[in-house]
This record gives sequence, structure tokens and C-alpha cells, in this order.
Amino acid sequence: MEEAVFSGLAPDGGLYVPVAHPDLRATMAGWDDKTPFLEVATTATRALLGPDFCGCDAADVAGRAFGFTPVLRPLEDGLFVLELFHGPSCAFKDFGASFLAAVMDAYCARRARTATVLVATSGDTGSAVAQAFRGRSSVRVVILYPSGRVSDLQEKQLTTVGGNVCALEVAGSFDDCQRMAKQAFLDGELVRELGLTSANSINVGRFLPQSFYYLWCWAALGGGRHRARSAATLFTVPSGNLGNLASGLYAWRWGMDVAGFLAATNANDVLPEYLSSGTFRPRASVRTLSNAMDVGDPSNMERITELFRAEPGEVEIVLSGQAVSDAQTIEGMRDAYRRFGYVMDPHTAVGYVAERAQRERAGRPRSGPVVLLGTAHPAKFEETVRDALGFAPALPPQLQEAARGRKVAVGVEPTREALKAFLTSDLDRICPYQKALV
Ligand SMILES: *Cc1c(COP(=O)(O)O)cnc(C)c1O
Repeated sequence: MEEAVFSGLAPDGGLYVPVAHPDLRATMAGWDDKTPFLEVATTATRALLGPDFCGCDAADVAGRAFGFTPVLRPLEDGLFVLELFHGPSCAFKDFGASFLAAVMDAYCARRARTATVLVATSGDTGSAVAQAFRGRSSVRVVILYPSGRVSDLQEKQLTTVGGNVCALEVAGSFDDCQRMAKQAFLDGELVRELGLTSANSINVGRFLPQSFYYLWCWAALGGGRHRARSAATLFTVPSGNLGNLASGLYAWRWGMDVAGFLAATNANDVLPEYLSSGTFRPRASVRTLSNAMDVGDPSNMERITELFRAEPGEVEIVLSGQAVSDAQTIEGMRDAYRRFGYVMDPHTAVGYVAERAQRERAGRPRSGPVVLLGTAHPAKFEETVRDALGFAPALPPQLQEAARGRKVAVGVEPTREALKAFLTSDLDRICPYQKALV
């Protein structure tokens, strides 16, 4: 686990996957709608990582990671939004980033070492990681983001933290950023000298904790007490790099009995295409309104195929896909507001539209609870909400603070050499550790 948290990619350039799948069924039988999120997180951490996974206490790590919880909000009978945007950056990636930061902090303290986290972001990852690691003494963060492809507010969230967090504005796409990060992780010298480590959704320390809210939601819908109800649940997952989806599928593998998962994408539809044609065709990403899902070559695809390697037939039973256009997304935001008075961000709306489309095509009503993963606060996408609904959502306090800050970013070309030059000659000056380790 320690090696997988710090090195991000396996030595062969592939992704680490958990080797053994624990069976959580006995533990989960005791959960119901009264079970607090922190208890689910703590119990799952112990079961997944072992009681002594970092020489520190699971309850302590979970407690320091999660100063916020998911909220399950009913829209109508049988339809819920699992709001995952009440953390420091107002998106679901706060769950993974905060847990990873707490774990790395515990490791670094025990080892008296330092680390440099390198992260490529299409928007929300970077802000979650920046907030989660902000001000920590032995870890610093370098964020690569595609110039002009994130919203103004997202950019502010990435570029106003300062201190041990620095932002590189890359003249390219998210796929360029991701490639540059991967190349840096394969550069042994850089990894050694900087203690380079990843925080992308490819990092196990980040995507394991994303399973905690699926498990908690399963409990909140009935859990061990009303098992049949929980087991009929469909999770609708707005998907891009497929990290969130992979986390849900892991929870299922560990014994979370549900009806299935609907992977909802925007026009970047490699997964729905794969599920219907059997061919995986990665390609350049296209820009959409749900820009955190603009991924043309999702890195967690490998994990998902691995999960089904033993029983390929299971894919069709638990996983379906649906792509949604920008026009449908806007229409979905309007429809949700009209019917429920609920303001959705464009990513959550992709899930809403996808589920409706799938149900209409099947010509059947819902057969169990439908949970739409609410992946971002609508105020993060003010412009789109304004275009769709005619008003701007109120900014939560976390976003007000970012909006007031001043952007500081370093421009770089989308090449391996440009990143290496920055890391080896400018990093220490621009992005110092906050305190020397004693
Ligand atoms: C990252 C993100 C997604 C996509 O999640 P993946 O794990 O990359 O599939 C969806 N919605 C929002 C708001 C995001 O930030």
C-alpha cells in the first residue's frame, strides 16, 4: 500500500490495482440509515488496508480527512441526488484528495521524509488536491492544467492557494497534461530527487476512499436492515476518467449488492461505445459544458476491464453506458429545476439525462432507487447555470474565498522537456516546502 500510494504508477508503467478483493458483506450487514459516514469510512479502511496500514489509526486518518460528509437528497419517490460537493473544493474529488492527503501526511511524519505531488487536472482534481494539501509541511503540490479549458472559478481555485501549492498553465489539452505527468513518473531520476508522487484518480490512495460514499449510501437506503431495497439501487455516475465509476465497481466487488451502475458521459463517449460495440477506441477529447468529463483516453479503463477479467459476462449485468449532448444537458438542468426546484451542475445533469433516456428507451418505470451522483456544486459552473436557468446560484463560502483571490500560475509548453525544466530548476524557488522537516 505504501508503495502504491507514493509511486502512483507500477514500475511497468501500468496502474496499481488492489490484489485481493476483501469481502465486506458481514460488516455491511450491520449498517443501516443511522450509520454515520465516518463509521463506514473507518470500518472500510480497516477492512481494505488492514488494521495497521500506515502505522496510524484508521479512525484518526478518516477523522482528519473528512471534515465533511455526503448528503443524500430525495428529489421524488425513488430518485435521489447523492451530493458529494460539500467539501473544501465543492466537488466529489474532495473525498479522495482529503483521504490521500491524510494518509501521505501520516506516512511522511513517520518516515521524516518529504514528497512532491504532481497532478494533471481537467478542473476539479486540481482544486481538490490543492485544498487537501494546502499548508502541509512535508508535502508540496504541482498542478498541471490545460490553459483556457477550465472555468474562471476553477482556475481561481487552482491558482490562488499559493505556498506549497503551485499551478502550471499548460498550452495544451487535459490529455497533454496527463501524458506529461505520466512521463515524469517514469523518469526515475525525477521521482527519486523530488520524491515525486501522484494524486490522480489513478492513485489507489485516492480512489479507494471514493468507495466510502457508495457504501454509506447503500446503508442509508436500507443497508443490512432493508437489504432488498438497497440491492435494487442503480447508481448513475457522471464519468470522464472513470475513477469514480471504478470506485463504485470496487465497492460492488467487495459485496455491495446493487442493481447496477450507469456510466453517463458527455460527447466523450469512449466507454458507452465500448459497452455497445466491444471496441475500446481512445481518441482526442472534445470540449463540452461538463468539462471535468472531457477525457478521450480514460486512464481507469484498465482497472475496469481488470475487474471483469474473470467473469466477462458480468459487465452487461452491472454496467451500462449512455452519452449525453450539451443541448440535452442544458435541457436536463431546466427539467430538474422545473420539476423539483433543484439546481444541478452540468455534470450531475448528464447523469440525470442519461438515466431518464435509458428508462424511456426501456419503456419501464424505475424498479428500485435511483441515485444520481452529484459530483459538483452548481456554483462552480455559474455561467452554464445562468445560461440554462437564467440566474446564478449563490456561492458557498469556500468558493467566495477562491473568487476573491489573485491568480498566480506559470505558463509551460505541453512537452516532457518543459515540465522537467520547471521541476529541476524553478520548483524550489516557486513552490517551497512550508517548513523544513526537523
Ligand atoms: C472529475 C469529475 C467527474 C468525472 O469523474 P471521473 O472519476 O474522472 O470519471 C465528473 N464530474 C465532476 C464534477 C468532476 O469533477
